[in-house]
Amino acid sequence: MAETKKGGISVQTEHIFPIIKKWLYAEKDIFVREIVSNACDAVTKLKRLESLGEAKDLTDTDYKITVTLDKEERTLTVSDNGIGMTADELQRYLCEMALSGALDFIQKYEGKENDAGAGIIGHFGLGFYSSFMVSDTVDVITKSYTGAPAVKWVCTEAGDYEITEPYDKEARGTDVVMHINDGEDEWLNAGKIRETLDKYCSFMPVEIYFTEIGAEEEKKEEGDGEKKEPEAPKPINDTHPLWQKNPSDCTEEEYREFYHKVFHDYRDPLFWIHINADYPLNFRGILYFPKLNHEYESLEGQVKLFYNQVFVADNIKEVIPEYLLMLRGVMDCPELPLNVSRSYLQNSGYVAKISAHIVKKVTDKLNSLFNTDRENYEKLWGDIRLFAEYGCLRDRKFYDKVKDTLLLPVTDGTSVTVGEYLDAAKEAGHENTVYYATDKVTQAQYISLLNDQNVKVAYLDKLLDAQFITMLESDRKIKFSRVDADISGALKGDGEEYKNDTLADLFKKVSGSEKLTVKFENLKDEKTPAILNVSEESRRFEDMMKMYAIENGTEAASFPTESTLVLNAKNSLVRRLGDAADGEETERIAKQVYRLALLGQRQLTPEELRDFLADSYTLLEEKLGN
Ligand code: ADP
Ligand code: MG
Repeated sequence: MAETKKGGISVQTEHIFPIIKKWLYAEKDIFVREIVSNACDAVTKLKRLESLGEAKDLTDTDYKITVTLDKEERTLTVSDNGIGMTADELQRYLCEMALSGALDFIQKYEGKENDAGAGIIGHFGLGFYSSFMVSDTVDVITKSYTGAPAVKWVCTEAGDYEITEPYDKEARGTDVVMHINDGEDEWLNAGKIRETLDKYCSFMPVEIYFTEIGAEEEKKEEGDGEKKEPEAPKPINDTHPLWQKNPSDCTEEEYREFYHKVFHDYRDPLFWIHINADYPLNFRGILYFPKLNHEYESLEGQVKLFYNQVFVADNIKEVIPEYLLMLRGVMDCPELPLNVSRSYLQNSGYVAKISAHIVKKVTDKLNSLFNTDRENYEKLWGDIRLFAEYGCLRDRKFYDKVKDTLLLPVTDGTSVTVGEYLDAAKEAGHENTVYYATDKVTQAQYISLLNDQNVKVAYLDKLLDAQFITMLESDRKIKFSRVDADISGALKGDGEEYKNDTLADLFKKVSGSEKLTVKFENLKDEKTPAILNVSEESRRFEDMMKMYAIENGTEAASFPTESTLVLNAKNSLVRRLGDAADGEETERIAKQVYRLALLGQRQLTPEELRDFLADSYTLLEEKLGN
């Protein structure tokens, strides 16, 4: 005769259910993970006993978990054929231990509601009782592998329970039947369940099947009556995720396929790193370098954290350095105490070691690509560059490890290391100075003047480059000089000194700027009459103020940048202007020369351009004569 016992979950628990219900409202979906992972644990435990020889002659060893949705009955059931529980165990594990675990957990975080969601990673520890976030009554029907009679336990959210023993259940294992609350109808939606299973259970180690009662019949009725062979049901998960395998057993194709599937990116990753850290770190993972479309996309990486193949959360920056979150990947850390706060993770020595290990693996990979396949490395650099620069800026250790393999893109399309650039600079006579351009079009004239003298120009056109330049300057004791900053140094040729104050004053006058400095130099290139230089310091300061204004949404204050007009003493036009008498004609030509120099340095304003064009046409017509 079956006997039914009634009971109440002890006094101190009277508040647990209301708290569970309102707690972490936004992340209700974790109950799916908790109940399914318990089923997984039950199978894993039984397999363990089997392999230890403690569970013998088991039947039904086709281990699996079935999630069944029954809209009519308003139930969601998770069934497993794992270890099961005896009546005693049920009493102990679910009524006493699980409850006190859940209580501890809640007491610890109660009252910290504001940061509870953000502060507790994974929310492990709430376990079984998380099912009450969506159900008012939960039935547990279970039969232990020991052959003890099956038991049914019904627990209501008021904390009352009823145990029926023995209960009629043939098969070994546990069914957890959640009676979905009235207000929680989304959990009766098959799409929602599938999506949640995908999110948390895609890589759990036991096969998981999802069925919806009634859905099969509906499908048949919809069809045209033709009988098709029913397809064998497929598990929703991959029980042997690639990261758990030995790197030597994985093919390139498998890595790519895994990437496409997990990150929904049809493009191939550039390359990847398979980390397999044994004792004492004991974690595994795969990090992919994605192909980027544009500069900002790089900030949207995704690194998924797992705990024994159970998904925990995306982008936990306490475990993975923030700049590595630009990458994509999976990390499985079974040693991490996950039911702890972020502040714990921030101060944990173990977490710091994991983090350091990952950084080492990434830098090793970059260095080995550089050393073994330079050609390919250069090709990939365009996609890696921002990541590498950001990493260097954020983490000194990262910089120290890759400093010799950092590449500078060159305007001619090649790339060189900073060291290589500096060696060449020494030979070309501009020791410790790196010339760089930020815009190939507006700065074309300067680039070609330098190239003509065998000086390479680095092409640093990204926003981040500005900070990166400053860092390299202070670390390597070198100077970066934009091509239009002080070009005369590299281009200066020999020749007698020339000075003409009248001409200098004339140029100052036609420029309309009091702050313009005019000087004469003998440039190697005789054909260019004048070039405009804008001091590196004042331009950087101006750029900074502009950035600041953009960030704060204010109007940028305009600071007149310190510019120098370099007149080429070797150029015949300059010399002829110098020899010419004062007069309107000389002034008009000087003005045109100044504007051409300006045009080589920056875009003209609309007014400047309009005047320049009008004056040019007049000059041309005059040249034709009457
Ligand atoms: P935890 O999984 O962290 O131990 P839970 O609250 O999730 O905490 O579960 C409490 C206990 O209940 C488990 O440790 C296990 O002993 C038992 N249990 C829960 N679900 C199952 C199941 N499907 N089969 C067997 N035992 C289970
Ligand atoms: Mg659990």
